[in-house]
Amino acid sequence: MANFYCKHCGARFSSVNSLTAVTCPRHPNGVNRGKHELYEGDEKSRYTCKYCGATFSSISSMTAVTCPRHPDGVNRGKHSPAL
Ligand SMILES: [Zn+2]
Ligand SMILES: [Zn+2]
Repeated sequence: MANFYCKHCGARFSSVNSLTAVTCPRHPNGVNRGKHELYEGDEKSRYTCKYCGATFSSISSMTAVTCPRHPDGVNRGKHSPAL
């Protein structure tokens, strides 16, 4: 069975339909200010931040931490998974 992950928080869903129905606690516009958004890359054992190259074992651990090379400014946003 396929797993679908939110790219902002790493929450796992069994369908895209259920993923995009629920507000995201790590949405970039603010806590629960938008719905979970689909991470469109493959499921991996290590995830690389697309801004700084830091690696993490899960999307949820990556998106919990601010990124020193975030495009909005140093530590102005969370790490984000490369596809
Ligand atoms: Zn989310
Ligand atoms: Zn980063």
